[in-house]
Amino acid sequence: MKIKLIFPGRELEMGKSMLPVMPLAPTLLAALTPPEHELQLIDMFYGDEIDYDADCDLVGITVRTPLAMIAYNIADKFIARGKTVVLGGPHIFAFPQEARQHASAVAIGEAEETWSVILNDVQTGSLKDYYVCGPYKKESLEGSVYHQPKRPDLANLPMMKRDLLPRDRYLMDSVFTTRGCPNFCRFCPVTPIFGPQIRHRPIDEVVAEVDTLRKNYFNVDDSVFGHPQITDRSEENQYYLDLYKELASLQPKRLWSGAGGLSAINYKDGQKIVELAAESGLCSIAAGLESISGAGQKQSGAWRKLHFTSPDAFNVEQMQEDIRIIQELGIEIMGFFVIGWDEDTLETYRRTLDFCDEMQIIPFILTLAPMPGSPIYDEYLEQGRIFTELSWDHYGGDSVVFKHPTMDPKEMFDLNSRVLQEGFSMGRILSRTFHTLRNRPSFGVALNSFFTQLGLRKAFRQRYDRSPHHPKL
Ligand code: SF4
Repeated sequence: MKIKLIFPGRELEMGKSMLPVMPLAPTLLAALTPPEHELQLIDMFYGDEIDYDADCDLVGITVRTPLAMIAYNIADKFIARGKTVVLGGPHIFAFPQEARQHASAVAIGEAEETWSVILNDVQTGSLKDYYVCGPYKKESLEGSVYHQPKRPDLANLPMMKRDLLPRDRYLMDSVFTTRGCPNFCRFCPVTPIFGPQIRHRPIDEVVAEVDTLRKNYFNVDDSVFGHPQITDRSEENQYYLDLYKELASLQPKRLWSGAGGLSAINYKDGQKIVELAAESGLCSIAAGLESISGAGQKQSGAWRKLHFTSPDAFNVEQMQEDIRIIQELGIEIMGFFVIGWDEDTLETYRRTLDFCDEMQIIPFILTLAPMPGSPIYDEYLEQGRIFTELSWDHYGGDSVVFKHPTMDPKEMFDLNSRVLQEGFSMGRILSRTFHTLRNRPSFGVALNSFFTQLGLRKAFRQRYDRSPHHPKL
């Protein structure tokens, strides 16, 4: 069959300036496609165009919430031309029936167990309405359903087909080591989609894949210090200790980044994991800190991943101490914060930026966007707090999509814009770059830090230039 895999995007310029990390989903799906099929990967985020009239037997499209309207529009155009379209991706998990209106079939959950079944059913003319992998209330779906209740095992996965994308397109290649998350942060759909159990990829397969990467810098799309809830499981810690010993022995040595929980530094074996990760090339982590207040930690559920024993045990001094230790090991921190918890005020935006300045962390200060599939989306929807008149296009940070008890959405939007512009002033970028250089005397790392921050500065400015005003509600 001739198959097109489409990764929708909105704006070429925005794509170029944001963190240029190769997307995992389309290259993994390409790898899962048997070689007898002819594949084309269309990465719209970087400007690939779609020829709607080209000959093809199947179109697969990834649907992420902020790009759902674009994905549906593409799907509609193919359907109008009589093509078979399958939609998958994180947005589908929450809204399969909505997606089904735009597609021949819809894939819910991870692809490893369903993609080959879908290909077979397209070829035999027996396509079902829904293909579901993992635990799911399939009675809620109207139509024919293929259901594989077991989530896939991550051993023996094929290596991602990176060669379908031009080599110079992304600054960083991307790999993954685990799936699942036990943290249940209330604003995040990852635990509902991938489950609370951590599934590990075999170390030799991860290392073999890293060894084939074409770039000197790669990103690990996981929590790279392990998971606090299961730290008493020595097996979990040993996985990371062994993985980083193996990665450190690879030649040439590569730099890498990942997501990381600060709390690793506080538990048995955790500090060793962080040290070995740094030795193996880890130079930057995206840390989901979420809030500098106890109330924000409690409402977000983020206290678990920060390894506090209860929602009330959060203390900001501990967070600061953990940040300092990790930075002194030569690892730069991008701090991800969400503003908009019920007890936040407009002042919280600025206090959070002050915190980032004091700690010399890169400030990802974003207004809460309750994502479909997350517990908080369902809760706010039930409470009538979601602005349902705003389409999915507004879920990319361009608008405030929920009603806060005290703050006005326009004021939140304007202040978030100002704080981000200030947070990425040239003075602050240089100050953070020198801080990184002091902790890790490597020009490669410093240059990477500088250009990454420059890209983010540009991307945030473009975002607010594109939509300088909050939509009227
Ligand atoms: S935000 Fe929370 S639930 Fe989501 S992946 Fe990170 S730790 Fe897990």
